[in-house]
Amino acid sequence: MSKPFEDPVVPASPEVLQGLDRWRTLPVLQQPTWEDPAEAQRAADELRGMPPLVFAGEIDQLRTRLASAAEGRAFVLQGGDCAETFAAATADRIRARVKTILQMAVVLTYGASVPVVKMGRMAGQFAKPRSSDLETRDGVTLPAYRGDIVNGFDFTPESRAHDPQRLVRGYHTAASTLNLIRAFTQGGFADLREVHSWNRGFAANPANQRYEGLARDIDRAVKFMEAAGADFDELTRVEFYTAHEGLLMEYERAMTRIDSRNGTPVDTSGHFVWIGERTRQLDGAHVDFFSRIRNPIGVKVGPSMTPDELERLVDLLDPDREPGRLTLITRMGAGRIRDVLPPLLEAAKSFAGTPLWITDPMHGNGITTPSGYKTRRFDDVVDEVQGFFAAHREAGTFPGGMNVELTGDDVTECLGGSEHIDEADLATRYESLCDPRLNHMQSLELAFLVAEELAAR
Ligand code: PEP
Ligand code: MN
Repeated sequence: MSKPFEDPVVPASPEVLQGLDRWRTLPVLQQPTWEDPAEAQRAADELRGMPPLVFAGEIDQLRTRLASAAEGRAFVLQGGDCAETFAAATADRIRARVKTILQMAVVLTYGASVPVVKMGRMAGQFAKPRSSDLETRDGVTLPAYRGDIVNGFDFTPESRAHDPQRLVRGYHTAASTLNLIRAFTQGGFADLREVHSWNRGFAANPANQRYEGLARDIDRAVKFMEAAGADFDELTRVEFYTAHEGLLMEYERAMTRIDSRNGTPVDTSGHFVWIGERTRQLDGAHVDFFSRIRNPIGVKVGPSMTPDELERLVDLLDPDREPGRLTLITRMGAGRIRDVLPPLLEAAKSFAGTPLWITDPMHGNGITTPSGYKTRRFDDVVDEVQGFFAAHREAGTFPGGMNVELTGDDVTECLGGSEHIDEADLATRYESLCDPRLNHMQSLELAFLVAEELAAR
């Protein structure tokens, strides 16, 4: 008879457990105001009893992948919505987004000649920070939309009320999204040959002629691998990680569990969580909480960040300078990145260990059209990525990846690209409830352009 399962279980120490709730004693920004705190407590308790969404072993594996990227031996591609919605968590939409990321990853892998770490800003990107608690339309003032996990987008008092049941629905939506992601990325959909054939379709479009040469080179590489007997069974599966902004403290706390192998806390709401520009106060709740979990974490870094502030942040979030632990996601704006980023990179060399630097070429490049659409120019996005590479060349550090707001659908939210989306087109299909996303074509085009840049290094 086989021996019963008897791995030792290591409990968390009382200090570790207490530490996980210390954030409750600190200033905490951007949280909902539930009308009935007892109901919110019941929802959080319900979440605490739910199975984890991701597992500690996967989280550790991601950390080693990110450590490679920090040293220039891999490149990270992170993509997804600014605000995921419950309504858009359908098979078609999820498939389109996963497909877009996989297609981009193949092109980038070829360009960079290193593995691409694939991450969806998916299965948890439901909470949004807002600049104002309230929104006024035609003289009517209601609570601002804070993401589907807090309230609804419809401009009615019922929909805009903060509803704790949405915490539970957020969990279930994340679970079904992740289930489909796992099926797609493990069950044959991610087959390299298939993904490459989708890319051939992109390059065959007359609008994308410029990329035909690169697509042909990749074609030859795939054929060569096949001829040389590469194990294509292995290439039907890919590692795919999930990420979101860890904003809603009750949700992240409820999803944080103790890894029984070593007694350390792991936030099982996603593999990678990051702290926003508006919640990264050194003495605030978010920094304290996320400093105590073992996941790799990211921090958004805008142009106002000083070397001194960055050093203190690194001391709090990555005191041991552990490879892969900390990702710095820069969002400087195309016009400023070449001036602002190099001195920060230079300064960080002396205190930050080897953090992973990723570009977010979206958030520094927002504009509003005269007709009132929040948009971004494709060319600015490309320019910021190029500025990111230039800054790292100058500082002698590694440009480790990029994070893009994208969708797999043919929306018209960002201007430009080979389809020449112009201001008049924005009204055709503008669906984002928050920031404008690159559509399927624009995302692929960005991947081809970045691949050229990577290949030229
Ligand atoms: C985001 O990252 O999508 C976002 C909206 O960021 P911030 O609110 O920090 O600008
Ligand atoms: Mn955004």
